[in-house]
Amino acid sequence: MNFSTKIEEIPHVGTVYGKRLKAMGIKTLADLIYYFPREYKDFSKISKIKDIKINEKACVQGKIISLEQNKTWVKRMIITTALVQDDTGAIEAVWFNQPYIGKILKIGEEVILAGKLSFQNRTIQISSPIYEKISLKETVHLGRIMSVYIESQNVSSKYLRYILKPIIENIKNKIPETLPEEILKKYELLPLKKALEQIHFPDSLELAKKAEERFSFEQIFFISLFNLRKKLEIKKEESQAIPTNKELIERVKDSLPFELTKAQKKTLDEILKDMENPNPMNRLLQGDVGSGKTAVAALASINAVKAKTQVVLMAPTEILVKQHFKTFFQMLKSFNLNVGLLTGKEDKYYSKKLHSDTIEISRNKLLEKVENGDIDILIGTQALIVSNKKKKEEQKVKFKNLGLVIVDEQHRFGVKQRAALQKNRDRVPHLLSMTATPIPRTLALTVWGDLDLSIIDEMPKNRKKIITEIVSEKKRTKKYEFIKKEVLKGGQVFVVCPRIESEEEEEEVKNVKKEYDYLSRDVFPEFKLAMLHGKMTSKEKDKTMKDFRSKKYDILVSTSVIEVGIDIPNATIMMIEGSDRFGLAQLHQFRGRVGRGDQQSYCLLFTDSRSKKTRERLEAMIKYDSGFKLSEMDLKLRGPGDFFGVRQWGLPDFAMSALKDLNSVKRAREAAEEIFPQIQKYPLLKRRLEAFEEKVHLE
Ligand code: ADP
Ligand code: MG
Repeated sequence: MNFSTKIEEIPHVGTVYGKRLKAMGIKTLADLIYYFPREYKDFSKISKIKDIKINEKACVQGKIISLEQNKTWVKRMIITTALVQDDTGAIEAVWFNQPYIGKILKIGEEVILAGKLSFQNRTIQISSPIYEKISLKETVHLGRIMSVYIESQNVSSKYLRYILKPIIENIKNKIPETLPEEILKKYELLPLKKALEQIHFPDSLELAKKAEERFSFEQIFFISLFNLRKKLEIKKEESQAIPTNKELIERVKDSLPFELTKAQKKTLDEILKDMENPNPMNRLLQGDVGSGKTAVAALASINAVKAKTQVVLMAPTEILVKQHFKTFFQMLKSFNLNVGLLTGKEDKYYSKKLHSDTIEISRNKLLEKVENGDIDILIGTQALIVSNKKKKEEQKVKFKNLGLVIVDEQHRFGVKQRAALQKNRDRVPHLLSMTATPIPRTLALTVWGDLDLSIIDEMPKNRKKIITEIVSEKKRTKKYEFIKKEVLKGGQVFVVCPRIESEEEEEEVKNVKKEYDYLSRDVFPEFKLAMLHGKMTSKEKDKTMKDFRSKKYDILVSTSVIEVGIDIPNATIMMIEGSDRFGLAQLHQFRGRVGRGDQQSYCLLFTDSRSKKTRERLEAMIKYDSGFKLSEMDLKLRGPGDFFGVRQWGLPDFAMSALKDLNSVKRAREAAEEIFPQIQKYPLLKRRLEAFEEKVHLE
């Protein structure tokens, strides 16, 4: 047997269980031994029946002296009752609606029961205890800590322990250690064989925890090695050094209607400095919604263009792309640039030539202009990557000399999509990713550890604090009155609904279409309303946004399509229906759509959820204005799984938890940084790293 031994060839598995295990993703021996328990049950202290106390958890061992099954009259529930006796007394165990227990347990058998003791129907009983039969030869988990696995496909924890026990016994001395000796020592980690043994069959809960610690350390260590390697690989590539034209940058800055914030200046300098290198920049610009990332990107772009290279900017939605096109063109129009726009759905394209209006040109013409270098800055959606869907070929836009790739709201794109813009060019262009969804520190160090970070940690000065409120159903009418007043004062309103249309069993979830009808007819008949959702054609969406911007509408009822990037300074109310359905980061994005002008703005979080947890989560929106704080909260409350790009690593739960803890992350990363420069010295580690890379790339 070795790591890649097929699961069905493992003793006591066979075809039936082989199939079930495969359905659980356990295909090889390695998969099996790395299928870690979900939790542990403490069977380590067996008490005498006379010593156990009411309302306390207890574990007893004894003989079954009676066993009955009855059906209750009212609920027609099957109740199994067993009387278990040791040499000090007897106790009753009761199970509800688990008829099979009557078949498994037999009178006369020895069992171990663990559960909480309660006083019911004038007897002391343990209700629904977990149980183990001693008659089963498997004495592996008796009188000790018992591992509980995620059970599915009719594979029980008991069975898993049963097949794992001999394997762990057998192979634990043959498995080579993956972590270097000095790392184990320095970070006080359990060696692999001990960790494997203790994670499946722990001698104590402390040791189980130590084992988990070792494996999550290892996972984060590998992620870090992986990213260090990726970083090094990118740095080895050649790209065009783009000198900083200080005089030009100053001129563009002077032409802006505002003064850049300190943070904008600092991040711009980091970016410009990076691009001066003949190796590609790979930088993530993080900045809260409205912190002014676009201006930074535009300044970096003009510098690249004046160094005779082209720039491409990709954003996730058409609305956003068109908005960027406008901003770039306005900001940079006196600097003699041609800006092109390329989107997917429409077959119309524009190019901007100095002193003329936007010109519509055909896609082919536009692509030609990009290829021969006529277009300096090309702004587009994902159509930039797959520019010919009909022919089903990945026809990439060709540039004459692409110097800088900018990806806005990068979390919306996959790793591959981002790479597609950068790869397979003569020289690798510099990459600037931008995101308004702040990445918690621990994730920035691990999952996104291949990127250099620039952080805009300050908002432009003119911003007013947005007033955020949680609104319960009772206050709905009152809030509608408030909205009326705001609109009469000249403000505009976003109404966000979780759905476009109602799905059958979801009557209670607000949807755009119904809400639009209802609000325009019954609530705000005197105002002009429009709706916006993903099923509209891009032309319709465009027109709606344009009309909303020019104040033809007062209220826009929308799905989450307005989440990212939209900039409408006159909007003062963001009203969110079913706000409990969104993550904090997303709510914060919605909120960022208002408060962009000098009016006082409001964010109204509607919810009919009574859950305390939900309430707490929404209250964080009132407490914090900072996207960074909120994303840290999201990480704590919802776990890292909701953050883009985390799932692809396929981490076990405890490693996911470790991602919440800055200290464990720092330790593993520090270790990776120590080892990485001498990785050649650790051939086994290198092989594991390669295997790890392969696994990650597959997904
Ligand atoms: P985001 O970082 O969310 O992409 P934007 O780049 O869209 O933010 O900027 C939001 C708004 O702030 C825009 O209207 C922009 O013109 C304005 N803005 C950017 N920088 C400043 C600044 N330093 N002072 C004042 N307003 C600014
Ligand atoms: Mg933006």
